[in-house]
Amino acid sequence: MSQGLDLAVIGSGGAAMAAAIRATALGKSVVMIERGIFGGTCVNTGCVPSKALIAAAEARHTAADTARFPGSPPRPARWTWRP
Ligand SMILES: Cc1cc2nc3c(=O)[nH]c(=O)nc-3n(C[C@H](O)[C@H](O)[C@H](O)COP(=O)(O)OP(=O)(O)OC[C@H]3O[C@@H](n4cnc5c(N)ncnc54)[C@H](O)[C@@H]3O)c2cc1C
Repeated sequence: MSQGLDLAVIGSGGAAMAAAIRATALGKSVVMIERGIFGGTCVNTGCVPSKALIAAAEARHTAADTARFPGSPPRPARWTWRP
């Protein structure tokens, strides 16, 4: 391959990372080509943000359920979804 590269990995998601890490561990020279946001689905729109959203929803659910604790009146839910 030109420029002394051994492997071109297209994409930068989990599969691409595994290939690149393995190749570099074997002493190969690797280039990674990404058309979108570096890190792929899991990091940017999949596993990580979805678990953050689930954790936020759980915290919201717990906070809205304060009526079961004496002395903690429930607050009315106010959703905006706007930053
Ligand atoms: C909402 C959601 C939640 C998820 N939760 C989990 C979870 O909890 N646990 C779990 O194990 N999995 C989860 N997944 C699945 C996980 O995200 C995918 O299995 C994983 O990301 C697949 O990795 P990949 O490397 O095959 O592809 P991707 O991560 O999609 O990476 C592909 C990359 O290649 C790039 N690309 C594509 N074509 C080109 C091109 N022609 N040129 C340059 N770049 C290109 C893309 O831009 C992208 O960055 C979830 C997925 C979603 C959508």
